[in-house]
Amino acid sequence: MPAAQSIVIVGAGVFGLTAAIELRGRGWHVSVMDPGPVPTPTAASTDISKVVRMDYGADELWTELGRNSLQRWAEWNRESGVPLFHNDGFLVLSREAMQPGGFEFESFQFLTTLREKLERLDSAAVAQRFPGWSADQYPDGYFNPRGGWAESSKVVAWLAQKARCAGVEVFEQYAFARLLEDGSRVVGVQAKDGRAFRADLTLLATGAWTPTLLTELSDVMWATGQPVLNFRVANPSEWQAPRFPVWAADIGRTGWYGFPALANGTLKVANHGPGRRIHPDAPREVSSDDEPRFRAFLRDTFPALADAPLIGTRLCLYCDTFDGNFWLDHHPQRPGLCVAAGDSGHAFKFAPVLGGLIADAVEGKVDITMKRFAWRERKATGSEGARAR
Ligand SMILES: Cc1cc2nc3c(=O)[nH]c(=O)nc-3n(C[C@H](O)[C@H](O)[C@H](O)COP(=O)(O)OP(=O)(O)OC[C@H]3O[C@@H](n4cnc5c(N)ncnc54)[C@H](O)[C@@H]3O)c2cc1C
Repeated sequence: MPAAQSIVIVGAGVFGLTAAIELRGRGWHVSVMDPGPVPTPTAASTDISKVVRMDYGADELWTELGRNSLQRWAEWNRESGVPLFHNDGFLVLSREAMQPGGFEFESFQFLTTLREKLERLDSAAVAQRFPGWSADQYPDGYFNPRGGWAESSKVVAWLAQKARCAGVEVFEQYAFARLLEDGSRVVGVQAKDGRAFRADLTLLATGAWTPTLLTELSDVMWATGQPVLNFRVANPSEWQAPRFPVWAADIGRTGWYGFPALANGTLKVANHGPGRRIHPDAPREVSSDDEPRFRAFLRDTFPALADAPLIGTRLCLYCDTFDGNFWLDHHPQRPGLCVAAGDSGHAFKFAPVLGGLIADAVEGKVDITMKRFAWRERKATGSEGARAR
């Protein structure tokens, strides 16, 4: 029986922790290091909510991963005994009649062929079912009863506990400083305090920090700052499902999306737009034009929210790849080193299947899915920065 292999995973966000649990389950000795405390406050995975959807235009792979994840989220709710995921449904509205080629139309078409029970909506139906909206602005769209939101920080805390219970060593307060090499082979990492973590394999799962820690990736991925604004509503039940589920407002063109209010009245709004390039250790401040921009959108689409008190802002970081696909693979020139990053602002929803994908990459399993995430040259996609996903 070959000796169990060891791996040190740098980064305890959703990539690092799901990979740790899966690899431990496959018999690896696994240690994880992160400056922490986990959930790390500056990590992309750390927040009150993340959208969980299967709606991905006509993209078969993302749609399939989304549908598989939705099944597993329900299992995680049972396993954890707490509602980590809320299946409130996903409301996708368009400012014009849905058109071929558009995110809304292609999602509706493709999911309908997969026999998903979507409900097509016009302005009259929106006004009747979802009274918070300026329904006359949204003449077309649909409601998908399968989808919703995950309590991301709670998920990360639960995954860290699950990892520890599985025998993963989670080292908080340790920050990666450099790779340890023996000849041309990477044999582990050294932390900023000088401590060495030696292992057969090293996995960098450091999200938006990755192109800074492994600069040869800085041409194919980069950190992008995205503002998140939290407002307070006085009567939360009026801004919760079923009358106010997770929503996307002409997202293919505008990027706007958001969440039902929490029990304490916090209502989160965000924008899946180009964002702005930023160094991952730079101050995390939203820019001065973000609040007026968000309020202009609210005034137009949710008039009753236009003057809601702003109770918090956050600049969260995507690790954007040039083509929006994840980066899950061994380093072609540095044996012993693997990378799992490139979330491009849309990976959290796949948490239940992410560990399996990353472990497959670590174990060198190659199939059509993994080809999409393999180490690759930067090609002119002509759509860099555009968010079709
Ligand atoms: C504004 C915003 C909104 C989003 N909304 C959604 C959504 O609605 N739905 C969805 O599916 N996805 C969403 N995402 C994307 C999702 O959050 C990410 O895809 C996911 O969290 C990325 O996980 P990660 O583990 O790669 O990165 P992170 O969670 O950032 O984890 C990286 C970890 O690496 C650690 N690290 C960094 N440097 C070092 C070092 N030197 N040594 C050791 N550890 C280090 C950090 O401390 C951190 O814990 C959103 C992201 C943002 C920014």
